[in-house]
Amino acid sequence: MSNLVEDFMDHIIAKNPGEVEFHQAVKEVAESLLPFIEANPHYKRAKILERIAEPDRVIMFRVAWIDDQGEVQINRGYRIQMNNAIGPYKGGLRFHPSVNLSILKFLAFEQVLKNSLTTLPMGGGKGGSDFDPHAKSDREVMSFCQSFMTELSKHIGADTDVPAGDIGVGGREIGYLFGQYKRLRNEFTGVLTGKSLDWGGSLMRPEATGYGQVYFAEEMLKTRGESFNGKIVIVSGSGNVAQYAAEKATLLGGKVVTLSDSSGFIYDPAGIDHDKLEYVKWLKNYERGRIREYAEKYKCQYFEGKSTPWEIPCDIALPSATQNEITEADAILLVKNGCFCVSEGANMPSTIEAINVFLKSKILFGPGKAANAGGVATSGLEMSQNSMRLSWTREEVDTRLHNIMKNIHQKCIEHGKEPDGFVNYVKGANIAGFIKVANAMINQGIM
Ligand code: NDP
Repeated sequence: MSNLVEDFMDHIIAKNPGEVEFHQAVKEVAESLLPFIEANPHYKRAKILERIAEPDRVIMFRVAWIDDQGEVQINRGYRIQMNNAIGPYKGGLRFHPSVNLSILKFLAFEQVLKNSLTTLPMGGGKGGSDFDPHAKSDREVMSFCQSFMTELSKHIGADTDVPAGDIGVGGREIGYLFGQYKRLRNEFTGVLTGKSLDWGGSLMRPEATGYGQVYFAEEMLKTRGESFNGKIVIVSGSGNVAQYAAEKATLLGGKVVTLSDSSGFIYDPAGIDHDKLEYVKWLKNYERGRIREYAEKYKCQYFEGKSTPWEIPCDIALPSATQNEITEADAILLVKNGCFCVSEGANMPSTIEAINVFLKSKILFGPGKAANAGGVATSGLEMSQNSMRLSWTREEVDTRLHNIMKNIHQKCIEHGKEPDGFVNYVKGANIAGFIKVANAMINQGIM
């Protein structure tokens, strides 16, 4: 680590003790950005990176609700409003027992640069709770969501802060949250994205993150004269992002052979085709079952207790579950087994050490803040449709999403191409995302 990064990180660690995921996200960005900032001293003078790493505001609150046994339950709710230099705060809500301040600050920090990369006018934020929706009844989830929104509604709004889904927050949760906001404010506005089609949602929003992740991989592959056609693809996760990443990779001719959840992964060498994927969607989105049931139904291997499939040889890996799911050892194994393209659907799924393995091996590596930006970009398109009170067709949204992903890829090349022709997409995404936010902050004065 250079002295520049070390000094910067000492300051971040001292100010945010114990927030290891936040330190990791800031360090990854600092490594690409500090040399760029040294070369552009107006950003240094204005202390832009120091300011971006300090949230505009952190909101923490108690969420009390009553479970089906009549017992009072208490969770903690959060909203991190990180930076609104280029638009209202925008970023998902995560409901998962692991949620804490560090995880949400890392996600909000990443979101600022990601949203900038989309070219749409969206600032960065993130929120959520340590509430675990698994094994809860619909009534319990509704009770929790109503209590959570009762406090959150004081801090958000269509022009202030527009949350969306993330881990544990899908269509059901967005519905309950929107219903409670509407009831409290007596306003039908685009205050959340990821809404159902019947009441203000956008076509293609469910597909957007996974499809965008694959579009980004497709662009990376093109730079080497490659495509998905005939490639073996491994996917982690089996939630929203994983389902649609698998779907688009299959549509483009790839053979997807794995999916996972936090209990284990399935390996289906015959490929997870359209019908099998429809079963996965039903299993995960409606039955709320476990991926193990796929292995029982289709008689394939199930690896109990192993939540990541990186030991399976592949050409392309699409990590789509959670942070730090690819360690250095996993990255070494992936490369050794012939994987030459990794496109991140999850946020920060690779550790810094794993990223360094990918960069040193000069494989195609698309970091989450570029590769998974299709989700928030389509949320931005949902906001536009809500403001105009109209709905675009599926084809229109998909074309816009596809173009946004191509543009992001192009910007990564512009800022990440090295003298030997290798594209460092990490550096490219960090610099391209930073410039727009930094210029806006300079224009708007010291605050
Ligand atoms: P979902 O809740 O729909 O699915 C998450 C999947 O990942 C599930 O299969 C879940 O398994 C698994 N998972 C979650 N936590 C862990 C863990 N600690 N260890 C192992 N497996 C885990 O979430 P999404 O698909 O929406 O999100 C997946 C990732 O993509 C996240 O990193 C999210 O931040 C990122 N992302 C999502 C966007 C979106 O539009 N939804 C946009 C951009 C990024 P289980 O059910 O067993 O918990």
